[in-house]
Amino acid sequence: MYVVAEKDIAGLMTPEAAFTAIEAVFAAMASRKAYNFPVVREAIGHQDALYGFKGGFDAAGLTLGLKAGGYWPHNLERGLINHQSTVFLFDPETGRVSAAVGGNLLTALRTAAASSVSIKYLAPKGAKVLGMIGAGHQSAFQLRAVAKVHPFEKVIGWNPHPEMLGRLKDTAAEIGLPFEAVELDRLGSEADVIISITSAFAPLLLDAHVKGPTHIAAMGTDTKGKQELDPALVARAKLFADEIAQSVTIGEFQHAVQQGLVAESAIVQLGAVVNGDDPGRGDAEVTIFDGTGVGLQDLAVAAAVVELAQQKGIAQEVAI
Ligand code: NAD
Repeated sequence: MYVVAEKDIAGLMTPEAAFTAIEAVFAAMASRKAYNFPVVREAIGHQDALYGFKGGFDAAGLTLGLKAGGYWPHNLERGLINHQSTVFLFDPETGRVSAAVGGNLLTALRTAAASSVSIKYLAPKGAKVLGMIGAGHQSAFQLRAVAKVHPFEKVIGWNPHPEMLGRLKDTAAEIGLPFEAVELDRLGSEADVIISITSAFAPLLLDAHVKGPTHIAAMGTDTKGKQELDPALVARAKLFADEIAQSVTIGEFQHAVQQGLVAESAIVQLGAVVNGDDPGRGDAEVTIFDGTGVGLQDLAVAAAVVELAQQKGIAQEVAI
């Protein structure tokens, strides 16, 4: 098997390579060539940790495996990041383990690639202003990735903790875009595309905030109870998700569906737009992509990184 260490991922994987891998796996999911296994997530009663597995099989990309890992809230005190994960790939022909890949940076890159795929296919024509809600660790990856798929002219941003907005300002400067901190009503009315990536448990962006043709990538909600958007906003939008079953249980659309405002059958898999089986935006004023994060995304970027590491001769081969 090959081992690709966490420390080597940054030098191997680019937002562009992550985009290509995620676009392809979303397409495979929508054409039923790839499927995710049920997610296991356990509070293990040690170190207050949440640990679990997200896995799947992609018969188009021939990728089989799982990401194991979770959230260790006391890691920062040890000088480690709280989210820890490793991806294991298996040979789908024989079942033998084929690779172990550091999963921490890959998780951020695949999450950013997912919103970028939605923005490539669903942004209103001529979108110029990007609105960012959230200024945590993931937000910088989101900004860098989206700048590669769409020529925005300006970034505006809001965060529940304003002292964190420097991250958005610095990242916008890094990609050569002006940045302005604004209130949510201005963000909702001026942004053509909005990415929300917070740990909120109550709506931040309200229906009344959003004016004109807008695409929203709702990326923060990945657990029961989390919420970033007003269900009334969800109810008037055309809805897309990475995986519908996950979206209505742990994703942003859980709330509108539970409240009876939206039928699960109204949600379209983003991959169906990639495949050309759904027209995408059409004449909808607001589109929302609910990115909940699926195991197949992790496997897709891990497989891509193993290939890059092999090409560069830095994949370590271990007999097992
Ligand atoms: P972080 O801890 O670095 O930043 C947290 C962000 O949420 C900041 O903007 C912070 O101001 C805000 N926040 C914190 N508590 C809040 C609260 N109670 N109400 C409203 N906002 C609050 O986290 P991160 O690594 O940037 O991750 C952000 C979110 O994205 C998390 O919810 C994480 O679980 C989620 N996430 C989703 C995916 C996916 O695939 N969809 C992948 C990775 C992370």
